[in-house]
Amino acid sequence: MKYRRIVINEPHASIEGLYDEYLGFWDIDEEFFNDVVLKWTDWHTDYLFHGNRIDGVRTVRFSYSRFIVDAERLWDDPLEREGQGILYTRFGRYVRNIPDENRSNLLGLWHQHQAKLRKNLCPDALLLDCHSFPSELSDVDICIGYNEDWSKPHRDVIECAVNLFEDHGYKVGVNEPYSNSETPDCPFQYQSMMLEVNKKAYMDEHSLRIRHDHKYKKNVRDLMLHLLSELSENNSF
Ligand SMILES: [Zn+2]
Repeated sequence: MKYRRIVINEPHASIEGLYDEYLGFWDIDEEFFNDVVLKWTDWHTDYLFHGNRIDGVRTVRFSYSRFIVDAERLWDDPLEREGQGILYTRFGRYVRNIPDENRSNLLGLWHQHQAKLRKNLCPDALLLDCHSFPSELSDVDICIGYNEDWSKPHRDVIECAVNLFEDHGYKVGVNEPYSNSETPDCPFQYQSMMLEVNKKAYMDEHSLRIRHDHKYKKNVRDLMLHLLSELSENNSF
């Protein structure tokens, strides 16, 4: 199965906006930065997954931190109850007090991101929802997720991704430890697949440096480019 277009979603790669007086509203101290922001930002996913040099691949990167707006959350996200809907208001012991007059501006950033995804998608496209996660959560290296609905990728697409990473020595989880994949409403059908990469597979979580010391393994970025070329109709590099 080849796709006419692949749209890469990168919602959690940025730390922008944390200190903006109209966007931030967190009491930022060293612990918040070290234990929360550094841990939960999907560092370098923009580097790992960028497919700009491949025709037929478009990238939609959210420019702000997830602690400003979580562009991945649903409009009525169940996590809203825990203060972690589109606009986080609580994270661990940290509280964010967003003045009422700033909420619509923040929510507008979520709408903008959804609109950008919709604008880039087309019938029969594949949305690749790209993330990473802290290694303490799971020993899975690569998690591939999807929804059990109209947006589920063809079986051979899921198998292609699983085999590619497994054949290169990575431990792959399917809908484990994460499931589901971003699917903005569109008036046409497309498919959606999530890739969640364990940070230990590509970076040092303390220094935040990208690792390229896999002597025997192809690195995740090379495999991603390989996957894009496998799934794209337009695979001229
Ligand atoms: Zn993420």
